[in-house]
Amino acid sequence: MTNSPIFHSTVTGVPRIGPNRELKKTLEAYWKTGSADDAQKLSDTAYTLNADITERILSEGLDQAPTVGRSFYDAVLDTSALLGVLPQRFSDIPDHEGPLPRHSDTAFATARGTASQPASAMTKWFDTNYHYIVPELAANTTFRLNATDLLNDLAATPQSRPVFVGPFTYLALSRTSDGSQALDHLEAVAQQYAVLLDALKQRGIACVQFDEPALVTNVDPGLLPRVRAVYQELVSHGVPLIVTTYFGDATVCVETLSGIGLAGFGVDLVTSPGALPAWTGEETLVAGIVDGRNVWRTNLDQALGTLQKLSERGPVAVSTSCSLLHVPYTIAGEDLAISDWLAFGWEKIHEVGVLARALRGESTEADLADFAASRAAAADRAASPLIHNPHVQQALREVTEADRHREAADLRKKVQAETLNLPPLPTTTIGSFPQTPQIRQARAQLRRGDISAQQYHDAMVDEVKLVIAKQEELGLDVLVHGEPERNDMVQYFSEQLAGYAATHNGWVQSYGSRCVRPPIIFGDVSRPAPMTVDWYTTAAGLTDKHVKGMLTGPITMLAWSFVRDDQPLGTTADQVALALRAEIADLVAAGAQIIQVDEPAIRELLPLRVEQQPAYLRWAVGAFRLATSGVAPEVQIHTHMCYSEFNELIDTVADLDADVTSIEAARNGMQVLAALKEEGYELGVGPGVWDIHSPRVPAQQEVDELLASALTSVDPHLLWVNPDCGLKTRGWPETLASLQVLVSAAIKARAQLV
Ligand code: GLN
Ligand code: ZN
Repeated sequence: MTNSPIFHSTVTGVPRIGPNRELKKTLEAYWKTGSADDAQKLSDTAYTLNADITERILSEGLDQAPTVGRSFYDAVLDTSALLGVLPQRFSDIPDHEGPLPRHSDTAFATARGTASQPASAMTKWFDTNYHYIVPELAANTTFRLNATDLLNDLAATPQSRPVFVGPFTYLALSRTSDGSQALDHLEAVAQQYAVLLDALKQRGIACVQFDEPALVTNVDPGLLPRVRAVYQELVSHGVPLIVTTYFGDATVCVETLSGIGLAGFGVDLVTSPGALPAWTGEETLVAGIVDGRNVWRTNLDQALGTLQKLSERGPVAVSTSCSLLHVPYTIAGEDLAISDWLAFGWEKIHEVGVLARALRGESTEADLADFAASRAAAADRAASPLIHNPHVQQALREVTEADRHREAADLRKKVQAETLNLPPLPTTTIGSFPQTPQIRQARAQLRRGDISAQQYHDAMVDEVKLVIAKQEELGLDVLVHGEPERNDMVQYFSEQLAGYAATHNGWVQSYGSRCVRPPIIFGDVSRPAPMTVDWYTTAAGLTDKHVKGMLTGPITMLAWSFVRDDQPLGTTADQVALALRAEIADLVAAGAQIIQVDEPAIRELLPLRVEQQPAYLRWAVGAFRLATSGVAPEVQIHTHMCYSEFNELIDTVADLDADVTSIEAARNGMQVLAALKEEGYELGVGPGVWDIHSPRVPAQQEVDELLASALTSVDPHLLWVNPDCGLKTRGWPETLASLQVLVSAAIKARAQLV
């Protein structure tokens, strides 16, 4: 007989944005007006959303709900505010007086920047599409706990468990401006948390959760004794503590922190369904068995089996594998043929309740019906013709290694030079042009039925005409149609591919007030009809210059979607690749000689542990090459990557074997080019010479210098001149002015060549 668990059931974390994006709306209203009235509404909304989800969790029979008080933007940003280390450059922003927490305005400035000061960096939270605000630290940073507002927010009921970003993870995600090690502050941060724990204890808080997902990555083993010592100290403050990891294997965390008196470990049993040998049964295992970041209904029989086995070894509580932040709120209100196979946030909370009661032998009639329904859904899904497309499977079986190879790069270079007839330092853009309010309005009108599909189409054709005319005027060499018809580069294709589903209201927070609605890949992917050929033809008919065909690559099509869990990701990637391969063939048949296949997300799916990365890169590169290798040597394949730290992907850039790769480089100088050269990379490259993430128009001299510096590592016939990403978020004035600078720089540099 094992001890009883500290609680029976919970979820690891909750979304904050609201079932109908209430927080987004009130946030944006407050940012716009700054009025006391909007501040009050924002504060009320955050309270209400928090209270509602707690109530939902408890009413489903779970006996614990995570709580963070009012959270407006991001939990890491909240932590920086809590620890008193929001950047100095915003220190002149007065404390908020009124309903919002005192540091709210400073925190918003940190996240969004001000007219005079840049925002803090923002980056992806582990391997998810959620972005956090990167803490800025230095060797001399001092931490000063700032918990008054938080303490006022937290209800001291036994059912509510405050959740914090743990000290190790907070520092592992921080950056320093002075080359010092953020983790040097481990003990100092823990000291602040100790003060916080004392305050929480005084208020009668029953249990606290520290999230330490950074412990699933490759941690320097030399740090682990310090992590243990820090938690030993925290435990001594007498509040029961749960340490939670997710997105990977909990072994290092459990080994490091076993036997020091923690109340429990939260573990992700979905990403890493191992046997957890390190768990001795002394602490409660908060078993994350319901997938917190994908949308599939839990197989309740299987999950219960796992839970029962674990509970032979020690006390077990039932939970989600990670915070429900990563999935939409509810499937209710969606009308999808595959609804029965899905579970979003609320449905997952329900599943946790059903499993927890079953584990205690207290299933209700309704619970038993849920088990039966889960069984039926699993059987239906496994056999459904909606998923299984024999043609796709056959086509995939017929793929050979040769299908992933083109002719030798040297030969391609030679024939492309002859047929494309481009100047040295050719100029181009990454694909999209400004998505103006008129374009968005036309899309909204179409959605509401105010204009017909034909009227919408005509409006987009007009936009293509404008974009082509502007590019002609600017004197760009390789033109694009401008992508006005694409709401989003993944959604646009997912709507046209079989095997993908879209939701109406499946919003997930991406960062701050920004939400996305990721499509769901549920079945074998295929392309019923050409997707972009008409747009290409329209644009190409308006100019004598080359127009690039423009596609989203297979990895990005996966990275920004919910993916199947019933086959390897690599198989899904190959299916998407085959659909794209057919599209490319059609584009070529329509006359396209240059085709760009964007892979901005290739780094995002990189596994968190280095030992798993080579296998990923193998299938990712394989899928890209399957998509792009079906063309003759004279067809020039481009790719584009961004948001990436390229240095660790240099080999991958070469392996993709695209004829031209454009990359985000305006902000990190031209270092990437030197690294590419060192690797012996001899294909075309377009380092972005204009940072499109700001409306600032680059000075002529700046771009001239960037090109001169690029020319020290790249042959002028291989060097492309382009912005560092698409222009959809930019306005026309800065777009025209900046492209003018870019074209002039190329012309000048060409003149200096002879
Ligand atoms: N072709 C896309 C565009 O120009 C690429 C966007 C991206 O890299 N994220 O918008
Ligand atoms: Zn980009």
